[in-house]
Amino acid sequence: MVELQNVRITYPTGDGVSRITFQVPAAAFVFLVGPSGAGKSTILRAIYMDRFPDEGHIKVGAFSSLFIKKREIPFLRRRLGIVFQDFKLFTDRDVFENVAFTLRVIGSKEKVIKKRVLRVLADVGLSHKSRKNPAELSGGEQQRVSIARAIVNEPYLLLADEPTGNLDPETAKEIMRILFRINARGTTVIMATHNYEMVKNYPGRVIHINNGRIVNIG
Ligand code: ADP
Repeated sequence: MVELQNVRITYPTGDGVSRITFQVPAAAFVFLVGPSGAGKSTILRAIYMDRFPDEGHIKVGAFSSLFIKKREIPFLRRRLGIVFQDFKLFTDRDVFENVAFTLRVIGSKEKVIKKRVLRVLADVGLSHKSRKNPAELSGGEQQRVSIARAIVNEPYLLLADEPTGNLDPETAKEIMRILFRINARGTTVIMATHNYEMVKNYPGRVIHINNGRIVNIG
């Protein structure tokens, strides 16, 4: 499903990550764990091909960083869902329209949009908030909206960058339950977190990152 082979990514300031090699099979749940600045976001950016490796290569499904053309990147992104620590919701539209956004971009029919959006909002327990503005929701609810938006297009891979980083422990648990439920239906999940203690409480493979290197694969 996802394969990184000897990946190195450098920034003007120096190495982001180097010698990153790992594989994620379909339907796996994988944690990338390490302190802030370890290189977790850089690895996720490489997987959604926002950054290309300076050395090595990456394969995501049928897409390879060696061969993908710029105009094909949107097709890769449509097969992925991405969730960020800071939610990145639009406050100029309601919850329903936030989740509908990608489907509108790809020109889905109104009937399909309605059905899919209502289904994923139900999945994350927010059917009753579909006409609220995201600014009226709690942090945990906003993250649930951003998860609904990430899964509305039925991605085969869900990437989550510190999805619980802004949330209290109880709310974080709720988000983890939702992510594992999505994974149980067959979606591969790769989640970056600095919270090693939290990871211990969950099944899933753990890849430890420090100083831009893999230090241990559990
Ligand atoms: P993490 O997600 O684990 O906090 P990052 O992948 O964001 O780590 O960062 C890894 C390293 O790359 C850090 O040393 C960071 O300072 C550096 N880095 C990340 N993004 C940039 C950037 N846009 N420009 C320069 N350096 C960066």
